[in-house]
Amino acid sequence: MTTVGILGAGQLAMMLSQAAATLGVKTLCLAASADECAGQVAPLCVVPTADPAAWESFVAQVDVLTLETENVILDLATFMSARKPLCPNLESLAVSQDRGYEKALFQSQGIRTAPYSLVDSLNELKQAAEDLGLPAILKTRRFGYDGKGQIRLSTVDDITRAWNELGKHPLILEGFMRFERELSLIGARSTQGDMAFYPLTENWHEHGILVKSEAPFLQAQLQAEAEDYMRSIMLGLDYVGVLAIEFFLVEGQLVANEMAPRVHNTGHWTIEGAKTSQFEQHIRAITGMPLGSTEVLGHSVMHNCIGMMPDKAEILSQPHAYYHDYGKAPRPGRKLGHITVVTPR
Ligand code: AMP
Repeated sequence: MTTVGILGAGQLAMMLSQAAATLGVKTLCLAASADECAGQVAPLCVVPTADPAAWESFVAQVDVLTLETENVILDLATFMSARKPLCPNLESLAVSQDRGYEKALFQSQGIRTAPYSLVDSLNELKQAAEDLGLPAILKTRRFGYDGKGQIRLSTVDDITRAWNELGKHPLILEGFMRFERELSLIGARSTQGDMAFYPLTENWHEHGILVKSEAPFLQAQLQAEAEDYMRSIMLGLDYVGVLAIEFFLVEGQLVANEMAPRVHNTGHWTIEGAKTSQFEQHIRAITGMPLGSTEVLGHSVMHNCIGMMPDKAEILSQPHAYYHDYGKAPRPGRKLGHITVVTPR
């Protein structure tokens, strides 16, 4: 039986493990602590700090490696990928860890991005703000998630304040996009090179955190364009696994914001809303199985449960609602679960 080693043990590792089990695939999740939520459904290998001996014992137990976050330390990923196949590969991970590399890759493939400037000093930030104009968004190039590590600059007074807060990190200043919508595309490429794409998903964020996704967003031309973009990124990186690209829709055109080399929150609706969930698709893609159908089963709306879970009985009494509790301790701003409502066709 194949064992997939997952670098990480949060809710994405948990849902990957659940999907793997139905395919007869085992998982082992590398966890920083024993209480991580994937431990509810899969064995954990608990390694609290960088420990090559423990990494060695983890990697010896698995056949193929994958990840649930791009914020994996590159030393760990490099160590692992020297021993077993890592899907997606190191290059894909390295690009998606850095907003600067990511934007350069998008542009090299002819994909529009927000105007941006890489910033290493307060003077460079002042110059970039003048060049791009305000408002603009200052972001850490690495290790940001859920709106963390980013500050909106509205006036010149914000510049020094933002620098004082974030200036110890490598930074990127992005022009502010006045978008009509936010969309994402989720697709997969298998070890055999087959590709499959889900329909576009429309997303809503508050304070940088995803609150709601709706799919399918049906617009044939945008769908074809987004798929072309993803195809060229996947081929360029020799990518294997599920990939997500987030876009802004600006004046009817797709502008790429970022990519995630993994299953993605904006694809959670696929668990009940598509013939094959993104989690099953990822396991299929990286273990050499045929990809599954991405056909939708209805109109899906996914709500994230942030900071607290809703009343379970109320959700479960709705005929088309599905309740997902990740079993995590409540904390403000923390994703604890999600609810999907699928209205059948
Ligand atoms: P990110 O961490 O880049 O995914 O940003 C989180 C959210 O912040 C996005 O989904 C947008 O809602 C908003 N955002 C990020 N970058 C920009 C931008 N350049 N212009 C306008 N809104 C942005």
